[in-house]
Amino acid sequence: MVFANNHEFKEACKEYGIKHRYQIHFPTNDKKRVKATHFKKCGWYIWASKLNPKDPTYMSMQIKSRKFEHACGKVFTNFHITSKWLASHYLEIFRHDPDWSIPGIITRVKAYTLTINPIKAWRARELALKAINGDEAVQYGRYILDTGNKAIITMLEMIRNKLMTKLFKKRDMKQKDSSQTPPMPTRATQETLHD
Ligand SMILES: [Zn+2]
Repeated sequence: MVFANNHEFKEACKEYGIKHRYQIHFPTNDKKRVKATHFKKCGWYIWASKLNPKDPTYMSMQIKSRKFEHACGKVFTNFHITSKWLASHYLEIFRHDPDWSIPGIITRVKAYTLTINPIKAWRARELALKAINGDEAVQYGRYILDTGNKAIITMLEMIRNKLMTKLFKKRDMKQKDSSQTPPMPTRATQETLHD
């Protein structure tokens, strides 16, 4: 198998690691040779080196040797799943759904049977939206703030209404109490009631 350069080879290894729940790292890592091993040092490895080491312009790499068996367990986190990886990996979803919820993102990543925390999901969405909209990302942030303010006002309105209802109920009860003890309500009280 031939890769365009060492970067492509490493990306392929990381992608493999994410999909199969192994954390891969690169103890040897230069333009001529890259060794990928499992972080758990279980024996799994791939050596890749330049197809033509004497030609500095030709960056293609090929696999020279490998051992594809793991003598270890899988993990549920992966340090290659960065917010940047998430942003680019799911860029099209973010493009179609800029409001993609944090739990939604986390659930999606669980397809890899991997867990990410909400902050990472949130950062991924921020990065993706910035990449998609450029400066518009800032406006989008303002838009969220506006909606947030509206929601708070609505909430306050609801609380106020509840308080008013409570107040009216109290007034009604007071009125009932007073009705049990005549004399008749004064003109002023009647006016207040019909307000
Ligand atoms: Zn392993």
